[in-house]
Amino acid sequence: MSMAATDSGPAARGSRSRRLERLAPGLAATLGLALSLVGCAPRAMDRTELALGTVCSIRVLDGASEAALDAAFARLRDIEATMSANAPGTVVDAVNRAAGSGAVAAPSDLRALARRALELAEASGGAFDPTVGPLVALWGIGFDTERVPAPGEIAAALPLVDRRGLVVDESAGTMALARAGMRLDLGGIAKGYAADEVARILTEHGVKAAVVDLGGNVKVVGRKPDRKPWRVGIQNPFSDRGERLGLATLPGGYTVVTSGVYERHFRGDDGAEYHHLIDPATGYPADGGLVSVTVIAESSMDADGLSTALFVMGPERGFALAEAYGVGAVYVRDDKGVLMNERARAVFELESGAFRLEAPVP
Ligand code: FAD
Ligand code: MG
Repeated sequence: MSMAATDSGPAARGSRSRRLERLAPGLAATLGLALSLVGCAPRAMDRTELALGTVCSIRVLDGASEAALDAAFARLRDIEATMSANAPGTVVDAVNRAAGSGAVAAPSDLRALARRALELAEASGGAFDPTVGPLVALWGIGFDTERVPAPGEIAAALPLVDRRGLVVDESAGTMALARAGMRLDLGGIAKGYAADEVARILTEHGVKAAVVDLGGNVKVVGRKPDRKPWRVGIQNPFSDRGERLGLATLPGGYTVVTSGVYERHFRGDDGAEYHHLIDPATGYPADGGLVSVTVIAESSMDADGLSTALFVMGPERGFALAEAYGVGAVYVRDDKGVLMNERARAVFELESGAFRLEAPVP
């Protein structure tokens, strides 16, 4: 979804009207009437900024204001400043530095996200694990440090990946990691949480229709001005951005989140491709012959965490977890086979003829 930044009308109109009022007070009443008529049309506005290590776009189709967009992007920066594992000075960084030596004060939003991540870790049998940080750091995929670690390094990191060692203490308002070397990484779920937060803030600011796109993590908000359902594309994992696998037709409040091998990967010195979705059981990128998993749901936080979990679990166990959470799931295999559960099939239409829809549907 490409979203050109077109800082359009309302603010410009507002300042022009104040200027005109000073210049020609007699015109104010007529102009006021004209402006209120203009105000009947949906107020649209786009804004795109870099945040959370990716391109974040908000396209408001109705009810836009500078204040709404300012508040939404301020919240994204706030989430990044609290939850990034990659920057010094965040709360997650403080928790990681204090691993094995004590608890750190953590704000309630971070504690709630960490608890939800732990629930998903439990439900997925550890396929999703917010303490996967030592492995993520070791592989460094997407960063200057990316490389294929030696088997001994992976063996040494594996015991440090342990969801039971992440302690969230609600009464004390703290978080702690049990052993030195452990590392919290919410990269598999925090963008989804951020999309839910942006949707909430836009609605609170009077936005009636919007598309929130945080690096491909898409959430639709409210009702489209033409009253038709939203249509959200799912990326074709074999082509460049922009080409579609198909379209999901959804009411407002829904989200479409994909975890794909194409998102972050590199070629090792051994010539093999390695991607960023790590199987905590092996310490290596999950190797289930998959290229992407898309989750369609209402909570973008759950959809984000689940897309990562389902990828690592593979379709057999993954579809059972999707049912448990009541979400749609679309698996794409490297042989271009596509598997969907009933919930996905009800809303998602495969468009590209290069893919085969496979039965049986669970
Ligand atoms: P997802 O499938 O949603 O998540 C994959 C990510 O989850 C991996 O990259 C890893 O971090 C983690 N992960 C891997 N395996 C597992 C597993 N088994 N269980 C749980 N988690 C797993 N990137 C930068 O390059 N620079 C930045 O400054 C930066 N800052 C960020 C700040 C925040 C707050 C967040 C949330 C992310 C940041 N990122 C940054 C990361 C970047 O946005 C990643 O691309 C993103 O987190 C991965 O999301 P995804 O949708 O591609 O894949
Ligand atoms: Mg995810």
